[in-house]
Amino acid sequence: MVTIRRYNIFILASSFWLPNSVLEMRIINDPAKLQQLVSQVPRPLVLVPTMGALHEGHLALVLRARKLARGTGTAAASVFVNPTQFGPSEDLERYPRPFERDSALLKQNGCDLIFAPEAPDMYYPDRSVEIVENALSQVMCGASRPGHFSGVCTVVAKLFNLFRPDIAIFGAKDFQQLAIITRMVRDLNFPIRVEAHPTVREPDGLAMSSRNVYLSAEEREQAPVIQKVLQRAEKKVREGRGSVTGLVEWMRTQIQRAPLAKVDYAVAVDPANLQTVSQLRPPMLLAAAVFFGDTRLIDNRLVE
Ligand code: AMP
Repeated sequence: MVTIRRYNIFILASSFWLPNSVLEMRIINDPAKLQQLVSQVPRPLVLVPTMGALHEGHLALVLRARKLARGTGTAAASVFVNPTQFGPSEDLERYPRPFERDSALLKQNGCDLIFAPEAPDMYYPDRSVEIVENALSQVMCGASRPGHFSGVCTVVAKLFNLFRPDIAIFGAKDFQQLAIITRMVRDLNFPIRVEAHPTVREPDGLAMSSRNVYLSAEEREQAPVIQKVLQRAEKKVREGRGSVTGLVEWMRTQIQRAPLAKVDYAVAVDPANLQTVSQLRPPMLLAAAVFFGDTRLIDNRLVE
């Protein structure tokens, strides 16, 4: 009897300290089940929201989540191609959805919990509430993609309510998204710490993106022009010579020199509010969105 009791104590103690990552990874599709589960999982719970089609950039965020959750907390990811953040003429239908591969990669990188709902599980047909951010989302991608950021804010708020994460990680590649989510968390008092992760790049400087797979060989060869020009623009900002309008015009022309590039926008803005700056000096966010064929790529450089 005594031996059995000791054995029980051992089992209890080991399940308490065993790293969560060596236990089975859970895949949940049902929002109600997720809400139930997260009230029982070890904390901190660190969330990485994604649309799947994972690459090294996403996986760096997951590794960071694993680290922040330490051995005993929960590293979680959502994989959901959110229809409400796509415009009518955008790539919702063709967006890649390699879920088997994604879930294997998440598991290998220390993820404990995946939430992968279908759109009808997330949205009632007669839904009538959404979150609209009214300042930071008026410019850059918000100007080019009307409604995009209210789609993003609404789905991220839903994910926050479903997971109740302690920490949520977002990539600096989507700087405007990161700024808007940070503002939403502040303005709506979500008890969540937003953590930024630096942009992960291909060896030639192209920012990793799930959309890079759409590029033809020729487009792929030219795409690093975006980061190359932003890098040279940073140098100009540090030298402090010339005007902001001159710099922005220069960025546009330089990117456009790649024959397949069509600049959607090129901007130099204040990173705190994304408004155009008047003086050519740090801190400054240099950012661009560029079409290669139908593929729209974004990138930025923060000059601090
Ligand atoms: P997405 O699946 O494109 O919605 O991205 C999910 C998260 O990964 C967002 O927070 C993105 O900012 C982040 N992310 C995407 N690409 C990169 C990258 N190359 N480096 C760092 N973070 C990234």
